[in-house]
Amino acid sequence: MSDLTPTALITGGSRGIGRTVAFTLAAAGYQIYFTYVSRPEAAQQTVADIEAAGGSARAFCLDSGDSEAVSRFFAEEIKGKVHLSVLVNNAGITRDTLVLRMKDEDFDAVINTNLRGAFLFLREAAKIMTRQRAGRIINISSVVGQMGNAGQINYAAAKAGLIGMTKSAAKELGSRSVTVNAVAPGFIETDMTASLAEDVRKAYVSAIPLGRLGSAQDVADAVAFLASDKAAYITGQVIAVNGGLYC
Ligand code: NAP
Repeated sequence: MSDLTPTALITGGSRGIGRTVAFTLAAAGYQIYFTYVSRPEAAQQTVADIEAAGGSARAFCLDSGDSEAVSRFFAEEIKGKVHLSVLVNNAGITRDTLVLRMKDEDFDAVINTNLRGAFLFLREAAKIMTRQRAGRIINISSVVGQMGNAGQINYAAAKAGLIGMTKSAAKELGSRSVTVNAVAPGFIETDMTASLAEDVRKAYVSAIPLGRLGSAQDVADAVAFLASDKAAYITGQVIAVNGGLYC
């Protein structure tokens, strides 16, 4: 390894699952770089909270789906500046509605952020990690990409696409000791699920064998495991963190 600072880069690290992943990887000793797109105050709060806990973090306003901005970010902030140990492709959005009502924009926006954005980061990270002959890439998919969900054709397609991307990249990058895995969370308590109607939430909980929604920490612990030395021989896999919802 170079003498540059071992760094974990997390897309969408200002809130929710990404924020908890950032804390967990900071506690594991990584310098944290994370992106956000619309809420600078949440990003600054996350930086301050990680630093208050003894870690080191920087936040970057960067739209995952913007090819040019992603390339520029890697050229200006990553290449030759830090040792990129871990990439967590976490940034994600929803634009839910039934297929008969879904507009082109709803489909394109979700694919652009959740799937194309992950590809852009993975491609840049792969260039660096293959040269290093070391690296961990972890893509945050979803149980919805495995089992489907009414009202989420766009989101399910993006999350299923991430699984195919994970398995293909694992095959391409394995010979350079770069592992690529996915974590597929079930229903997790974050802003993304906060707006669920009470009856919908109850229906989800009744379908989960462990009888509760998951926490962001449940997901972050799986990510930290995949980033750790203990997962050195695991690649191309999907770890489900769903309370048994789909198994
Ligand atoms: P969340 O609370 O809504 O947070 C989303 C994060 O992504 C925020 O930091 C947001 O930044 C950032 N983001 C959104 N669009 C972005 C873009 N274009 N470029 C860069 N950053 C962007 O979401 P979450 O529930 O933590 O979900 C995190 C990931 O887990 C997503 O990929 C989601 O699909 C997946 N997941 C979630 C659940 C669940 O039940 N919550 C289940 C399965 C999978 P700003 O605040 O600045 O907009």
